[in-house]
Amino acid sequence: KFDRKPLIAGNWKMNMDHVQGITLLQKLAWTLADAEHDFSRVEVAVFPPFTDLRGVQTLTMGDDLPVHYGAQDLSAQDSGAYTGEISGQFLSRLGCSYVLVGHSERRALHHESDALLATKVAAAFRHSITPVLCVGEGLEIRQAGTHVEYTLEQLRGSLEGITAEQAATLVVAYEPVWAIGTGEVAGPEDAQELCAAIRTELAQLFGDETAAKVRILYGGSVKAANAASILAQRDVDGVLVGGASLDAAEFANIVRFEH
Ligand code: PEP
Repeated sequence: KFDRKPLIAGNWKMNMDHVQGITLLQKLAWTLADAEHDFSRVEVAVFPPFTDLRGVQTLTMGDDLPVHYGAQDLSAQDSGAYTGEISGQFLSRLGCSYVLVGHSERRALHHESDALLATKVAAAFRHSITPVLCVGEGLEIRQAGTHVEYTLEQLRGSLEGITAEQAATLVVAYEPVWAIGTGEVAGPEDAQELCAAIRTELAQLFGDETAAKVRILYGGSVKAANAASILAQRDVDGVLVGGASLDAAEFANIVRFEH
């Protein structure tokens, strides 16, 4: 676990226009600077809307604010007649280190299938962007008790065709849909159960050495008050935070979970 640097990621969803986004990031920067946060110990990334990315890039230029950033989605295609789509090539040129792939809201609202997501994962790798692949079950599946198998099937389907070398740099986010934006948090043991199952599956697909390198995040109503107990779990290497990432002080406290 100690070779895997914890990643605290904030998904702003469709909140914060490009002016509000800059203000939020500035507040976060000041708060973390005041607290003398050591970015080499705990990595921080934000996922603003596309329209904020240029501003975020400008604010993080130089070494003053070593926050990484990424988009919330990308196209499976690189360029051409795909009105409304955003290419991984464009994101890469804007300095995106990461991109969310298959967030549950995209799977549900835009009917993104595992097969499509596998092509988006490939597109991210093609442009040297690390995909943060989101998987996780809904309430009915959890109640039926088939959540492990369901989540692992999403994982296998969305990683179809990727190499072990690519997999070693991957980030996976386990986000049970019933815990997203609901205030309902999976217990630390639930988070550990699934993150461990995901790592075991990755070991079967790509080998133990590769699986040991993959960072696996938990997401679903994470706040400063519950972050430390979740992050203490052996196979949880970070958190993906929605609502609580829109409050700079709260998010900074999640980043500083060790204190
Ligand atoms: C998310 O959208 O990835 C998420 C985990 O949201 P929230 O923290 O608001 O539950």
